[in-house]
Amino acid sequence: MLASSCATTPITGTRTFNLFSPADDVELGREAYGQILAGERVVTSGKELQMVQRVMKRLVAVADDAGYEWEVTLIDNDQTVNAFALPGGKMAVYTGILPVCQSEAGLAVVMGHEIGHVVAQDGTERVTRSMIAEFGLEAATQYLDLGEYKSIAESSYGLLVEMPFGRADESEADHIGLIYMARAGYDPREAVAFWSRMAQVTGNGPPEFLSTHPSHETRIERLQALMPEAMEVYQASAGR
Ligand SMILES: [Zn+2]
Repeated sequence: MLASSCATTPITGTRTFNLFSPADDVELGREAYGQILAGERVVTSGKELQMVQRVMKRLVAVADDAGYEWEVTLIDNDQTVNAFALPGGKMAVYTGILPVCQSEAGLAVVMGHEIGHVVAQDGTERVTRSMIAEFGLEAATQYLDLGEYKSIAESSYGLLVEMPFGRADESEADHIGLIYMARAGYDPREAVAFWSRMAQVTGNGPPEFLSTHPSHETRIERLQALMPEAMEVYQASAGR
């Protein structure tokens, strides 16, 4: 049981402890997605939605996929400069982040980063820690074996959507997103441009994209350090 609880993150090779399998992530994400979107106004047609769906399709075609159920929703909310992904592949982009993206490649930075959180299973890694702290390892494992996804989703809303990820998870999602966007044929240099624009945006929206972890300067330095690797992937994708 516990032997299967160690997962290796694609691209970065980081080892993590997670009670949730990718299939558990899909179940939990499906529950949480319905609960969260119930209170939102959703965009159902138009050029922006088509762009969001096109970027999603190109990115998931090149992502490391452990059987995830990819889906993206564009939420009609110009005040919210944010996007999030739930465990298992369900994602939401707020219209308020589109002006910062400026282009399809800019949007690929955001969505690639979110896909990075999904394939690293960052959401359920955090839920795992919280469940073990609250119930202990044995009870947490049983809880999951019983398939209590609905109640886990209800009690994990803050962990999955409201609280920013830590610095290590953010840097890892940046790295994975950078490589995926390059694989999908989007210029990875746009990631540096996007985060520079993001640094200009101030406000008090939900934290994921306004979080200070890592600081914008650190984030951009790390992305630049990864750029030679990403450019090789990008040039190979352009030659296909
Ligand atoms: Zn993030």
